[in-house]
Amino acid sequence: MQNILKKIPKIDKIINHSLLDGLCKKLLTKIAKQKIEILREDVLSGKVCDVDESSIAQEIKKAYENVLEPSLKPLINATGVILHTNMGRSLVSKTLLQRASKVICNYSNLEYDLDKGKRGERYEHVSNHLKQLLHVEDVLVVNNNASAVFLILNTFAKRKEVVVSRGELVEIGGSFRIPEVMKQSGAKLQEVGATNKTKLSDYKEAISPKTAMLMKVHQSNFSIEGFSESVDFKQIQTLAKAYGLIDYFDVGSGYVGELPYNLGNKEPSLEQILSCDPSLISFSGDKLFGSVQAGIIAGKKELIARLKKNQLLRMLRVDKITLALLEESIKAYLQEEYELIPTLWMLHQSVEKLEQRALHVRSFVGENICDVVHSQTYMGGGTLPNRTFATIALHVKGKAVNLERQFRKHGIIGRIENDKFLLDFRSILPEFDEDLGKTIKIIAKEFE
Ligand SMILES: *Cc1c(COP(=O)(O)O)cnc(C)c1O
Repeated sequence: MQNILKKIPKIDKIINHSLLDGLCKKLLTKIAKQKIEILREDVLSGKVCDVDESSIAQEIKKAYENVLEPSLKPLINATGVILHTNMGRSLVSKTLLQRASKVICNYSNLEYDLDKGKRGERYEHVSNHLKQLLHVEDVLVVNNNASAVFLILNTFAKRKEVVVSRGELVEIGGSFRIPEVMKQSGAKLQEVGATNKTKLSDYKEAISPKTAMLMKVHQSNFSIEGFSESVDFKQIQTLAKAYGLIDYFDVGSGYVGELPYNLGNKEPSLEQILSCDPSLISFSGDKLFGSVQAGIIAGKKELIARLKKNQLLRMLRVDKITLALLEESIKAYLQEEYELIPTLWMLHQSVEKLEQRALHVRSFVGENICDVVHSQTYMGGGTLPNRTFATIALHVKGKAVNLERQFRKHGIIGRIENDKFLLDFRSILPEFDEDLGKTIKIIAKEFE
């Protein structure tokens, strides 16, 4: 045993093994120490009865690569759900990233007023562009829409009452519940109406001297069908005005421009919502707006000024990376460069285009392995609930659960529908079609 122990190489020697050339010596030393320690114990306990340097070096190399294995990995989203919260919601276009990198990688006038040579305002930058885009008095950007809701309630309704319909007390994925957020913010919830029906008179009867705000919340991830009634924001707003109250609409997933005709008819755009001149609205930056994670608040100048005075804002403040990317998305909207907003681009892809791509991949892979099928998908991300729209997928033949697992191992997330494994082209960027085809071939071989 002593002989075997003697054969265990010294740390200095093993980290200079040719197999480990070019790797960081400091990290190698750390890993080699751990490996050698374990090896020594294994020799002493008789588990290992011979050692050789090159297999030790090999093991160290493997451990080194494991340490550096990225935790955040790129995936191909073949679920068909464009706004997949678990996969990062909206994508950032490479062109916009490149444009924004000039600011992100350099010093900038983030909080520096170039005219006056003095401290400036971080929020001026995007707000000027957003005011142009949305035609509102003022805008404020915070960390996400959850923070926007919290900041608004805390600023205007602390120890006061906020009237909300019972049909809108929603929970959004990741346990963001409107009633809970209200409680935390210090606002008192005044529920009105019933789950399926709320009338304007319900709001009116709930107004008391303690009321600060009438709030509407987008139902986001569900819809009530059948015997139901809700009050338009316009009516709520008129009522709020008559009583000198603030009206606030948590829009959730606001969008600019037009949705495909079969989706747009039930979901008003930001332009339509803002045309009735609300006190305040807020929406997410990375849902249908198609930019980075942010909460965008728009509305009356004097109200935004009060939000800016709340100390909480400092905690909800957005970084320059967010601001730079958001500014580029807004400029893309202003110049109608819609192809630079991947979320919208994917949503507007025609079924014919998707079918062409799917047929192309199938011809590369082979008809015995997959078929092209017509299907339906959802938008996701708490938007356009229960509203499906047409899509095209490749049905990979074979046992669906096994295929799902195997594709997942290769970084491709598909979906199972009626026991069929589908790769949906609605949420795949065309630049990945070739990789997708190659991986399908590899996996088909593995299943042979
Ligand atoms: C998604 C959503 C939120 C939360 O927005 P985040 O940007 O995810 O924080 C809040 N309210 C509504 C209505 C939503 O749809």
